[in-house]
Amino acid sequence: MNRTHLAIAAAVALLVLPFAPVPDFWITQLNYIGLFSLVVLGLVLLTGVGGLTSFGQAAFAGIGAYATAYVSTTLALSPWLGLVVGLALTLVLALAIGAMTLRMSGHYLPLATICWCLALYYLVGNLEALGKYDGLLGLPALQIGDFSFQSERRIYLLIWLAALLAAVAITRLLDSRPGRIMRAMNAHRGGGATMPEAMGASTFRYKLVMFVIAALLASLSGWLYAHMQRSVNPSPFGIKFGIEYLFMAVLGGIATVGGAFTGAALVKLAEDQLKVWLPMIFGGSGNYEIIVFGVVLVLVLRFAPDGLWPLIARWLPAPRQRAVDENVPPLSSRRHPQAGAALLDVRAIRKQFGGLVAVNDISFKISAGDIVGLIGPNGAGKSTTFNLISGVLPLTGGEVELLGLRVDGHSSREIARAGLSRTFQHVKLVPDMTVLENVALGTYLRTRTGTVRAMLGLNAAEEAQARAEALRQLRRIGLAEQAHELAGNLALGPQRLVEIARALASDPSLLLLDEPAAGLRHKEKEALAEVLRQLKAEGLSLLLVEHDMDFVMKLTDRIVVMEFGRWLMEGTPAEVQASPAVRAAYLGADE
Ligand code: ADP
Ligand code: MG
Repeated sequence: MNRTHLAIAAAVALLVLPFAPVPDFWITQLNYIGLFSLVVLGLVLLTGVGGLTSFGQAAFAGIGAYATAYVSTTLALSPWLGLVVGLALTLVLALAIGAMTLRMSGHYLPLATICWCLALYYLVGNLEALGKYDGLLGLPALQIGDFSFQSERRIYLLIWLAALLAAVAITRLLDSRPGRIMRAMNAHRGGGATMPEAMGASTFRYKLVMFVIAALLASLSGWLYAHMQRSVNPSPFGIKFGIEYLFMAVLGGIATVGGAFTGAALVKLAEDQLKVWLPMIFGGSGNYEIIVFGVVLVLVLRFAPDGLWPLIARWLPAPRQRAVDENVPPLSSRRHPQAGAALLDVRAIRKQFGGLVAVNDISFKISAGDIVGLIGPNGAGKSTTFNLISGVLPLTGGEVELLGLRVDGHSSREIARAGLSRTFQHVKLVPDMTVLENVALGTYLRTRTGTVRAMLGLNAAEEAQARAEALRQLRRIGLAEQAHELAGNLALGPQRLVEIARALASDPSLLLLDEPAAGLRHKEKEALAEVLRQLKAEGLSLLLVEHDMDFVMKLTDRIVVMEFGRWLMEGTPAEVQASPAVRAAYLGADE
């Protein structure tokens, strides 16, 4: 039995529970836990995976609840229409809030969601049409045909069906083409926009997608809640609940689907107990539980920063290890230029950081099939040159032509699409993804699966192709054995090789490698040199920054030397080795 079997068994048990003679109280509790879990699943995606914090999920639940309340009471229309209206309104609002804040740095989204939650609370609380602070009463029960979900035991089925389906959808999403990008974006876990963009993905779009999915899940929860209570008022949609949802996510395990249910259940059950006990101890009827939650939160963050789910998961059977089927059709490949054709033409590119000219009018060309080395002492501007060519940094001046296409001023994802792939001097892997998944990230531009397709699980064929391609590239660089290890567990040398495999998985015409041999042992360096020679033999072109002179000299056709941002010389390895200027530069820099 693996973890998937266990999850299926748990889901079935939950769905048949209301048919068993369990006390009503259990059903009531589980209804709330299911409703909370829906919202928290959205936060798992948005905050845990994406690294974006929202305090405003309660307000999106409020939109779902109020929309259906208004549609089904004042307008006397179907609650199902209420659901559609609620989701549509949520979509529009989430897109508007997201579009305004998600391009800006991390703090704007949390602040905006706090404002949004406060604003909605006072807005609905003061609107005559929505019953002010008393809310709207007399919502109808949900109905499918003649079957009415009027009792708690019946709406339980809808709530848990929704929660479990959402869990399946999020799980599928995280293990897919869009999910890999989302997992690579979390700035709090060492990710960010640079690498996913260099793989060809629009990180802004995925932020927006995550924000919208989280908002829609909250809105769905609000809709179910409204028809369970058969009334709505502003209080469950205020900022207090916005914070509580976040608390559930953090307590349970912010980046895991299991954590969403754990957090929702623990907070709901603890809150009920505390509401009984604390007033007995302190007297009166304050919201004392919030104080306890605050203390618990600090303790959890201190002693179990990943939440409680990982502690529980340790006792569960291991997740299913999916084998890679290599007998699938390969992903389509781009048309590569003929050997000798003009590939890259860099003309007087320039980068200034304030007063520092890091790259000072550098020019060189690469023809298809060449291996060109870019060398120079530390701080010469090699990495910056890479960043300019690959679009990671905007140019201060100059032109770059890739395969006859002017790419200066283009974003790194457009340049990736044009056929350039790269590795980073400071390795950018997703440590909590397997080596195979990290390499599969590289297939982003060769695959098409979108978010909805992935959530519906309609991506199996393409996913198998992406995984097969990833394994093929890993085998090429000699890391197939480690395919299922977490990338974070690898030493730095092998991590660099994984980055090369990831870059290769994008089927580039030009590959930029920034210090690929740094941190490799002698044997590994030789193996890498062999791989690079093999790639050249296959017609791939390489631009290589490397410190190990021996490595560069043996491998490259031509070498460009930089010093203090300036072009020092260009020539064959023999010419460069013989140059007094180069020797002086290296000696002067005390290399
Ligand atoms: P290399 O890769 O050749 O060692 P870099 O391209 O990393 O050199 O750096 C070239 C110069 O530009 C260095 O002096 C470095 O301090 C500076 N530099 C690099 N990136 C930045 C940045 N983002 N802001 C300011 N200065 C930078
Ligand atoms: Mg560098």
